[in-house]
Amino acid sequence: MLTLFDDLIQTLFPSYCLGCRRAIPPKTTLCLHCLGELPATNSHLSNSNPLVELLQQLAPISYATSLFFFEQQGLVQQLIHQLKYMNREQLGSLFGTQLGQKLSDSPFLSCDLVVPIPLHKRRHRQRGYNQVSRFGQRLAKQLQIEYVSQNLIRKKATKTLVRLNAHQRIAQIKDAFSIVDTSVFAGKHLLLVDDVVTTGTTLSEAANCLLQIDGVQVSVATIAFAKSPLP
Ligand SMILES: [Zn+2]
Repeated sequence: MLTLFDDLIQTLFPSYCLGCRRAIPPKTTLCLHCLGELPATNSHLSNSNPLVELLQQLAPISYATSLFFFEQQGLVQQLIHQLKYMNREQLGSLFGTQLGQKLSDSPFLSCDLVVPIPLHKRRHRQRGYNQVSRFGQRLAKQLQIEYVSQNLIRKKATKTLVRLNAHQRIAQIKDAFSIVDTSVFAGKHLLLVDDVVTTGTTLSEAANCLLQIDGVQVSVATIAFAKSPLP
């Protein structure tokens, strides 16, 4: 129920849906229409989904799921753009909570720690935040596990991989990651999180780096998955 105070706040600072700009109740991010439009993959329901198949060609990961399908010019692309470049971190929180709720009865419950794909420190400084932080934090909270963000680091600054071919992408990302203290991850099932998977190059490079540690198992959860990977 809206209180008089909420009413006043809404009048002074009206909230708009980040998808369609319709007016929405305070403290919400998307309207019911946009929430219903988001193309859920529900790929956590089966471990033979297209994302697992893509990633397992590149790294021996255990489970993988994405919350949504990513389509060019679609609503998900528009929202991820805002999350990544326009400080709309509340979208990360919303998506992390949504995916966490879906995973509450799934094999992902065997994960011990949530680990975000890190930005290189120069990129982090420019952007001011890692766009997957809030997503990973909320997901960890829902799964009641810890979020560990400073242990997998990006030691090499990479250009955007989107416009590169497969060979160039692999060369660009090779040895991009390193681990500060392997004992933090040893023997753990790590849930690696990222915003969008297209070719899987970045995630698999990070997974292969983590899998060098004794007894580590890696699974993957992302906000979106582009169905037709780039050539
Ligand atoms: Zn909307």
